[in-house]
Amino acid sequence: MARDLARTGKRVLILEWGPGGPIRGAFRDYVRQQLVPGKSLLLTPERLGMVRGITTGGSSLFFYATCFPVPFEMLRAHGVDLREAVEEARRELPIAPLKDEMMTPMANRIMQSARQLGLPWQRLDKFLYQDRWRPGLPFGYYGDPHGVKWSARNYVEEAVAGGATLWNGARAIRVVVEGKQATGVELVMRGERRVVSAPVIVVAAGGIGSPLVLRASGIEEAGRDFFFDPLLTVCGTMRDVALGPSEIPMSAGLLQRDEGYMLADMALPRGCHFLFTAQAGKLRRLFAFRSTARIMVKVRDALGGRLTDSGGVRKRLSTEDRDRLHRGEQSARRILAEAGATDIYRTGFMAAHPGGTAKIGQVVDANLETRFRNLYVCDCSVIPEPWGLPPTLTLVGLGKRLARHLSGGVADKPVA
Ligand SMILES: Cc1cc2nc3c(=O)[nH]c(=O)nc-3n(C[C@H](O)[C@H](O)[C@H](O)COP(=O)(O)OP(=O)(O)OC[C@H]3O[C@@H](n4cnc5c(N)ncnc54)[C@H](O)[C@@H]3O)c2cc1C
Repeated sequence: MARDLARTGKRVLILEWGPGGPIRGAFRDYVRQQLVPGKSLLLTPERLGMVRGITTGGSSLFFYATCFPVPFEMLRAHGVDLREAVEEARRELPIAPLKDEMMTPMANRIMQSARQLGLPWQRLDKFLYQDRWRPGLPFGYYGDPHGVKWSARNYVEEAVAGGATLWNGARAIRVVVEGKQATGVELVMRGERRVVSAPVIVVAAGGIGSPLVLRASGIEEAGRDFFFDPLLTVCGTMRDVALGPSEIPMSAGLLQRDEGYMLADMALPRGCHFLFTAQAGKLRRLFAFRSTARIMVKVRDALGGRLTDSGGVRKRLSTEDRDRLHRGEQSARRILAEAGATDIYRTGFMAAHPGGTAKIGQVVDANLETRFRNLYVCDCSVIPEPWGLPPTLTLVGLGKRLARHLSGGVADKPVA
C-alpha cells in the first residue's frame, strides 16, 4: 500500500518498530527479529509458540514464500472485491510453481508417496525469482541475501525509492483521535515519546500488533475471537534420500478444504530442526538432520480467545481444532510411511498466521476504515472468517485495493 501510494505522489511516512539494514540471512538476525520471547515469540497458555517478524518487511522476511489463491467468494460476501487488485499483484510478483531443477529428491519422494496414496499433492505456487536461483543456494529462511525470495521488504524499498520516508525503531503506541477523526500517531523512538500528525493513518502492525494499537486508541473490541492457524510437523527417518543444501520448504502439498487442514513438505534449516526436535524430546534425532523427512500439518482453527493489552495471547485449541490436527497428522504419517520413513513422530504446536483481530464488518468496514474517520487497518487483522491458508497474496491484494481507495483512483463500490 505504501509503495502504491508513494508512486501516486502521496507523502508517505512508514513507522517500523523493527530494524532495517542489509539482509544477511544469519541465524542471529532471525533470533533477534523473530524469536524474542514476549516480543516476536509469544506463548499461549498451552505453550503453543506463535512467531512474527519484527523488522522491515515483517513476518514475510522469514516466510516460506508459498502463494495460495485468494478466497474471493468469502471476501465478496463481506463487501470486498479483490479480483482486480490481485490480478495486478500477480502481474508484478514472481509467482509460479517450482521448476523441475528446484524440486529436490526429498520433496519429490514425499510427493510421489502422497500421490501413490491417491492424494492430489501438487507443486505449490511460490513467491520466488526462480531465474536468480542456482543449485546449492540455501533457501532464505532467515531472510534471503541472494534476492531469490520475494518479501514485503521489496515493496518497502520501492516505496522509499518512490519518495516514502521510513523510520526504523519507531514503535507506534496509539493513534491520536480528536472528536471522531484520527489526526496523528503517538510513538516511541530511541526511548522518546513523540507525536506525528497525518491526515490519514493506516495501522498495519500485523494480527497481534494492530489490535494493540487500536485498543490503546479507544477501539476496545479489537483483539478478540481470532485465528492463528496452528500447525505441527510430522517427521520420519529416511535411509535412502537425504536433505540437500537447496531444500525449499512447501515445494508441494495439498489443501483438504472440507477437512480444514493443509499438508506440505517442510524442510527446515538445521537450527530449527534442532529446536523442534529438542522440543519434541527426541534427543536421539537431534543430529539426524539430513535424514529427517518432514511434513507440515496446518489447520483452520475456530475463532476464539483474546489478546491482553500487553500482547499476551489467551487462546486455547478447541476440541475441533485438535481433531483437525489429529486427522492431518494421521494423513502425514501415512505419506511418510509410504515414502519408506521409519521412527515417525510429531513435534509440538506452533502458529504463524495470527489474524482476524480487527475483522471486516466488526472493527473496520469494507473499505478497511474504522469508526474513526481516516483511520484504516490493513493486514491479517482484518480477515473476517477462520482462515488456515498462507495469507500473503490476499494481504497484498488488500493493500493495493486500499491504496487505490486512498488515492481516489477508482472508488470502491460496495459489493452486493
Ligand atoms: C515462519 C513463517 C513462515 C510463513 N510462511 C508463509 C508462506 O509461505 N506464505 C504465506 O502467505 N505466509 C506465510 N507466513 C505468514 C505471513 O508471513 C504473515 O501472515 C504475513 O506476513 C502477515 O502480514 P501482516 O502485514 O499482517 O503482518 P507482519 O508481516 O507481521 O507485519 C507487521 C509489521 O508491523 C511491525 N510492527 C508491529 N507492531 C508495531 C508497532 N507497534 N509499531 C510499528 N511497527 C510495528 C512489525 O515489525 C512488522 O514489520 C509465514 C509466517 C512465518 C512466521
